[in-house]
Amino acid sequence: MRLNSLLETRLADLHAAGLLRELRRVDSPAGPHLQLGGQRLHNFASNDYLGLANHPVLREAAIQAIERFGIGSGGSRLMGGALAPHHELEIALADFKGTEAALSFASGYATAVGTISALLGKDDVIILDKLVHASLVDAARLCGAKIRVYKHNDLADLERILQWATRPRPASSGGRPLRPNVLVVTESVFSMDGDGAPLREVVALKERYGAWLMLDEAHATGLYGERGQGLANAQGVADRIEIQMGTLGKALGVSGGYIAGSRKLVDYLVNRARSFIFSTAPPPAIAAAATAAVRYVQTPVGRELCHWLWTHVRAFVSHFPPPDGRPPSAIFPVIVGDEAAAVALFAALRERGFFVPAIRYPTVARGAARLRITLTATHAAEDVNALADALRRLLPRFSPTKIDHAPPRPT
Ligand SMILES: *Cc1c(COP(=O)(O)O)cnc(C)c1O
Repeated sequence: MRLNSLLETRLADLHAAGLLRELRRVDSPAGPHLQLGGQRLHNFASNDYLGLANHPVLREAAIQAIERFGIGSGGSRLMGGALAPHHELEIALADFKGTEAALSFASGYATAVGTISALLGKDDVIILDKLVHASLVDAARLCGAKIRVYKHNDLADLERILQWATRPRPASSGGRPLRPNVLVVTESVFSMDGDGAPLREVVALKERYGAWLMLDEAHATGLYGERGQGLANAQGVADRIEIQMGTLGKALGVSGGYIAGSRKLVDYLVNRARSFIFSTAPPPAIAAAATAAVRYVQTPVGRELCHWLWTHVRAFVSHFPPPDGRPPSAIFPVIVGDEAAAVALFAALRERGFFVPAIRYPTVARGAARLRITLTATHAAEDVNALADALRRLLPRFSPTKIDHAPPRPT
């Protein structure tokens, strides 16, 4: 079959299943509004939680770095592309996270894939929360370790798997029994459901079984903890987590990912993380802007932005209170279920001036299609209320009609 005919069939199948995705061209900078196809929409789809993506402090940092270092970095980090701004970023990140060292990557995706496949191999076991991000799932597949998945936030299920995983196994050569390295991977705030992991309990469990923990703080960095260090910091367990991951493209408003941890961990990743080694270093202006963001979120003005975000979250929660009393986040999933219904709800909201895209398989499970609302510090309070009103009116037409708040989290 000719490639294009095959692809045409596949695309038609996606369309028929309500799963076709298309790129939309946005003609405005990141922010609370979006210029889309001649229409100005309220943007409730952005991960730019603090409104830093187009912030003057970051723009200025990037411009200065361009003046000084130009645009491209000219090579991978190990081949002369490690410019001063990359080093400054990593110093700022380690200081922010309170770790010995940090390493930045071109994206969060590259961070997950590079780190996990550097650390684990076929004799090891990786244990993932059912709802972790695709980058972590892909990393687990790539590293070749045995993969086990525990029910979302289910500590009993995690413990059952830990018991199995940490049992010594007979060595294939008949020598001393092997005890595999076991890595537990979870997010602190889940990207598509917005609920938090029971971190203290997960940390206690991995310690009891001698496993390591990798925590992805993509949706918590900048937002939780006294200076925005993340949920692990807010819950007082950061220094017990071996591998702390985060992204620079969400609340920090730029792009990239990072690992924070021991000096040994970073030295090892520099030698073994293939997505780090075999990839051109990000432009120095990106590193400089990210450094400015890391510093800015910790200042009183930065904390003030966070305060605005939480004010909006509380306002939205007052319209749609979580039934199980779980702590809210800036991410509100509106579970519709059916893929086509989710797309129809998206279209209805768009007609009313709100941009809240439908999230479908494979980003979430089949039949768990949803609208994913994200609030940001730069929204106006009246726009948050207007969205809540519009949703209240529209939802009865798109069953099941509820703002879902994932199953109660085990305590
Ligand atoms: C966005 C995201 C990533 C990937 O980060 P990018 O910088 O966008 O590649 C990884 N993990 C989680 C949980 C995310 O939400």
